[in-house]
Formats: sequence, C-alpha cells, structure tokens
Amino acid sequence: MSISINKDKCVGCKKCLSVCPGSLIKLDKDGKAYIKYPKDCWGCSSCIKECKKCAISFFLGADIGGRGSRLTVDTEGDIVHWNIEKSNGSVQTIDVNRKDSNKY
Ligand code: SF4
Ligand code: SF4
Repeated sequence: MSISINKDKCVGCKKCLSVCPGSLIKLDKDGKAYIKYPKDCWGCSSCIKECKKCAISFFLGADIGGRGSRLTVDTEGDIVHWNIEKSNGSVQTIDVNRKDSNKY
C-alpha cells in the first residue's frame, strides 16, 4: 500500500511532509517531494488530501478491491472530490461535502 508523487505537479510546498504521521515523505535535491519509505505507508490519505496540486495519488491494489486504480483528491471550498482513475482510463468521482461528512 503506497502513494506515488508526480514530480511535474509538485511545487515543493512541504504540506505533505508536515501531515504524514510517519514522516515518510521527504524533499529531493530539486525541492520535489518523494516517498522515502514506501513500504511503511499505511494509506491514511492525509498527504493526498493536503496536496493542493493534486500531485499525490494512492494505489488501489487488488487486495482492497481497487484492481490497480489510482485515487487522487482535489477540493473546491467545502467539496472534496475523490477521483478514482481506473486502469482502463475511465474516471469516477465521488463528491463529499466536508460540512456534512461528520454529521452522523
Ligand atoms: S503537498 Fe503536493 S505540491 Fe506540496 S510538496 Fe507535497 S506533493 Fe509537492
Ligand atoms: S498516505 Fe499517510 S502514511 Fe502514507 S505517505 Fe501519505 S500521509 Fe504518510
């Protein structure tokens, strides 16, 4: 279970570094984020939600029913878009309103 970081999108803001509970993400010599300890990532998704450049994706392997899809997150105000990019190229988006997500 791990993430991957698109260096072309990363602007080196370090937000993902500060939220990772395991301090698994570092900056390389070019100021781009990379995951130094991918085997230790437990998929909490904090870094994915924090990255405003949509540079981080989470691999959804077959072991959790994802069949090789990738998950990215982008936000607009209170709306969080969870984008699932499937291996066949199609994209499914699930929108969640942050204000409503903890109402139960
Ligand atoms: S939060 Fe996104 S843009 Fe910022 S350093 Fe991490 S990957 Fe790069
Ligand atoms: S998903 Fe969680 S544990 Fe994995 S790198 Fe991102 S913040 Fe760290």
